[in-house]
Amino acid sequence: MSNPAPRPDGQGGQAVPDGGGRGFLGKIGARMAPPRPEAAPSIHTREALLLLRNYEESGQGWFWSTDAEGRLTYITQYVAEQMGRTAAALIGASFSDLFLPVDSHGERQRTLPFLLTKQSKFDELPLRSAFEGDRWWAVSGRPHFDGGGRFTGYRGSGTDITQQRQSAEDASRLAMYDSLTGLANRFNISKKLDTTLAAFSQQHRSCAIMLLDLDRFKQVNDTLGHPAGDALLKQVAERLLKIVGDKEMVSRLGGDEFQILLPDVEDRGKLGDMAADIIASLSQPYSVEGSRCIIGASVGVAISPFDGMTSDDLVRNADLALYAAKGNGRGRFRFYSSDLHQSAEDRRALEEDLRDALARGEMELSYQPVVNAKTDTVTGMEALVRWTHPERGPISPSLFIPIAEETNLIWALGEWVLRKATEDAAAWPGQMRVAVNVSPIQFANAELPKIVTHALAASGLPPEQLELEITESVFLGDSAETSHMFKALKAIGVRLALDDFGTGYSSLGYLQSAPFDKIKIDQSFVRGATEPGSRNGAIIAAIVALAEALEMETTAEGIESLDQLDLIRKLNVSHVQGYVYSKPVSNGELLGHAESGSWTIKPTGPARQRNDRFQMFRKVGAIHDNHRYAVVMRNLSATGAFIEGIQDVPLGTQFVIDFGEGQLVTATVRRSKQHQQGIQFETPLVSDGNGGLCTRHRVSPYLIAAAAQQSGGLSLPMFTTTSDWTGK
Ligand code: C2E
Ligand code: MG
Ligand code: MG
Repeated sequence: MSNPAPRPDGQGGQAVPDGGGRGFLGKIGARMAPPRPEAAPSIHTREALLLLRNYEESGQGWFWSTDAEGRLTYITQYVAEQMGRTAAALIGASFSDLFLPVDSHGERQRTLPFLLTKQSKFDELPLRSAFEGDRWWAVSGRPHFDGGGRFTGYRGSGTDITQQRQSAEDASRLAMYDSLTGLANRFNISKKLDTTLAAFSQQHRSCAIMLLDLDRFKQVNDTLGHPAGDALLKQVAERLLKIVGDKEMVSRLGGDEFQILLPDVEDRGKLGDMAADIIASLSQPYSVEGSRCIIGASVGVAISPFDGMTSDDLVRNADLALYAAKGNGRGRFRFYSSDLHQSAEDRRALEEDLRDALARGEMELSYQPVVNAKTDTVTGMEALVRWTHPERGPISPSLFIPIAEETNLIWALGEWVLRKATEDAAAWPGQMRVAVNVSPIQFANAELPKIVTHALAASGLPPEQLELEITESVFLGDSAETSHMFKALKAIGVRLALDDFGTGYSSLGYLQSAPFDKIKIDQSFVRGATEPGSRNGAIIAAIVALAEALEMETTAEGIESLDQLDLIRKLNVSHVQGYVYSKPVSNGELLGHAESGSWTIKPTGPARQRNDRFQMFRKVGAIHDNHRYAVVMRNLSATGAFIEGIQDVPLGTQFVIDFGEGQLVTATVRRSKQHQQGIQFETPLVSDGNGGLCTRHRVSPYLIAAAAQQSGGLSLPMFTTTSDWTGK
């Protein structure tokens, strides 16, 4: 059968395909007799042709046919126009040239020229138009053969599937990206992490992940509403992207949780800096729907291969680090280390024990003097809660207060502290004030003024002798409720102090908006002031000037050394609290000192603050010349340490100190006296996010495995263990 050229008007009846039962005819349910060009069309055939023409004109589908060489012999006029041509102009063109060759979009596209030469039939093959932007066709075709079985060409049909493809793409974008922030979603990032780790483990490369959780986001959501919460999350995403740079590596896991993927990063110095940047940036105030709000962030970091080789392990460990960061007072980062498994257990156990601690009488108050910086006389005391655990001994309030806050035990505990402190203070000689810390959770409780009034009434302490210490996080909630609470407390006649100024966002605006009687400048801020080049001194001077203008007192917290005290006095800070005057003491001890009705303390302490040294008793390895010595580290700073355990080591001796978990650092002996050596590290340690130190880099498990293989053992038997000095 020959294929006469169709008429340019698209009515070449002869070339209309029969669709092999599935194409166009199958769709409209018509049956067509085999075309016979030499005979006049019957009424039935004419009717069918008319229907076909209507169908073509409706734009719902189109037809095509080719000769045995794959050249077009027919194409619906409408689709030719869509391609910016006429049907006539396309006749003779290669059918496969109408479509783009294979690209990343469609695997199956590769098969069109192949299918045509193989003379196979095909159904709904998705093909991208070569002529118009992003237009897609689903094309079907049937090969045709003459009576002698000779291939004569193709007949087929096509439909426009551009829209379906777009919605499929949208759906897959939805499946991969978070619709609120546009960041990768949990599914996307975990797939990425899986593939990255699989590839990297073969190439012995490292990859870090950060898990991030917003602090106090729930408060914003609850007080300002969900649309405000959503707007806030968008801004958080923008700030994260600014710091991380690579959009594909930042994801929102859901709620207020984010994850960042950092391929080829293992330097804990860099990671710590980045985590600190992220926390600082996310802690800056936000403006959402006309309201100002502040949140914070905590970050947990885990690095492959050191902290896990599979994505499950790595994520679980980063999560553990995040949990520890939050437990440590929030607004912090924390690197994963294996002892966190134990601390997570401990924390859960502590939570249990804390429930009964009050009832079992394990809580006590100790009091730290607040001293007039000019006269050295004690003007008041800060009540600090102490928990002595029956098995574990004293537990720091920095550890258990956050647990109490999370579990709502803070209400009972806070009320007990208020009652006990006012009761004790009422019995103190003179007019010494007592300061009580009030958690933001207590502050958000409408009952607080009543609890305070009851405590004062029960103890008989005059309200002006009670000072409530509040941190700036109380300003994060609803501002109407906050100012209502301030008014209610002031109406009782108690004093209010802003605690820990200089640790959070520290807006001087708070000082104007709330009726504070005192600002307490945080220890970290004062410490910073003694460092060369620091601007903290100037800022403290400004705060003091503002406080004086507003008739507020100022207290510098955590003053330990005489140089700090000197500076604080020069800056005209009115009060000082810190070890330089006194550590917190028991009520009994306090009564002994203050018997006469007044208490003056002479400041004592080190002349200057030393580079933060951690006193400790920690067993580490010191490796020299293939010998491994077991030594005890007595103190540690970023740049050096004091070790004990080897006799008479010559000055200048080099060691490799093994802190465990692949943390090795080269050190040189700078001081040596019998069994004690002062050593200096070749590269300084970095913060572990928990007030401790760690090495920047670790020895990769790959290297350890390779070394073990080389030496034929499982561990590193390169060293003999000894405690006598054998080096030269
Ligand atoms: P804070 O209110 O800022 O209390 C000052 C903290 O600094 C106390 O730690 C105190 O012992 C410590 N400190 C004072 N002088 C020095 C110094 O010269 N050097 C150093 N290194 N530290 C100094 P503490 O008792 O461990 O309390 C920690 C935090 O726990 C308190 O910080 C406060 O936020 C919270 N806290 C303590 N007691 C209570 C309480 O009864 N209720 C509530 N809600 N929080 C409390
Ligand atoms: Mg305080
Ligand atoms: Mg404080």
